[in-house]
Amino acid sequence: MNEPCTAYGEAHQPVLQGTWEYVRAGQEEILRSPYLPASCAFLLHVLLSSPFFLLDALASVSQRVRSWRIAAGSGPPPSARQWVDCFWRVLYRYLTVVLPTTAVFQTLRSPAVPELAPSCWQLFVEVFGCFLLFDTLFFIWHLSMHRVPWLYRNVHQLHHQHHIPFALAAQDSSSAELLSLLLFALSSAWVLGCHPLSEAFFHLINSWLAVEDHCGYDLPWSLHRLLPCLGGAPFHQAHHSFHSGNYAPYFTHWDHLFGTYRSSGLT
Ligand SMILES: [Zn+2]
Ligand SMILES: [Zn+2]
Repeated sequence: MNEPCTAYGEAHQPVLQGTWEYVRAGQEEILRSPYLPASCAFLLHVLLSSPFFLLDALASVSQRVRSWRIAAGSGPPPSARQWVDCFWRVLYRYLTVVLPTTAVFQTLRSPAVPELAPSCWQLFVEVFGCFLLFDTLFFIWHLSMHRVPWLYRNVHQLHHQHHIPFALAAQDSSSAELLSLLLFALSSAWVLGCHPLSEAFFHLINSWLAVEDHCGYDLPWSLHRLLPCLGGAPFHQAHHSFHSGNYAPYFTHWDHLFGTYRSSGLT
């Protein structure tokens, strides 16, 4: 059998080609399923939030864990009851609106499943490009929701019920907001013509960053400490506390550029 050969990154390709073939093997139907994006988005969100459920439980007994909480003096960490209620609310909105609507979107989009994997460089560029585009779309949408009272009341206000958010509450938003954010993510990858493997990495990291933004902890190993271009949890929690400023989800450049950046001052 001939070795797969492409114009890009042959030196790195064996690693990704093996991974891609493993993903594709017998699962092409799943990869083409119109229900895949919404199902993965929900499951990933719950899975990635779950370590913070334990951290919230630990925070009530450990001074060390409490010291990592942002706005530590503003009350106890969320209770198990708050987590469970939030879980059912998010599941209900996925099942009733997000899953059926994104299924229609994916059917129209009909994503291809190529035989060849991307090179590592292609994957990096595509994932980074998706983040820049998604961050921009989110910034514009988020700013609009705060500037147009009708949009705020009917679409965004529900997400602001959490003055001090917790990990699972990253997706505790109205159905319209949940849907728009998932469509922005899917469209970003679509517009840039991403390979499905790059798109999968983008959605995975995107889910993680959304959870980290809302987790309520400024952890010593948080990604924003390594990459100062990211705002992290203190940046987004300031938005929840002040109800204004810091409209971008991850990067801080748009808020600096538009004069809407505010430092957290919450720790
Ligand atoms: Zn907001
Ligand atoms: Zn939020």
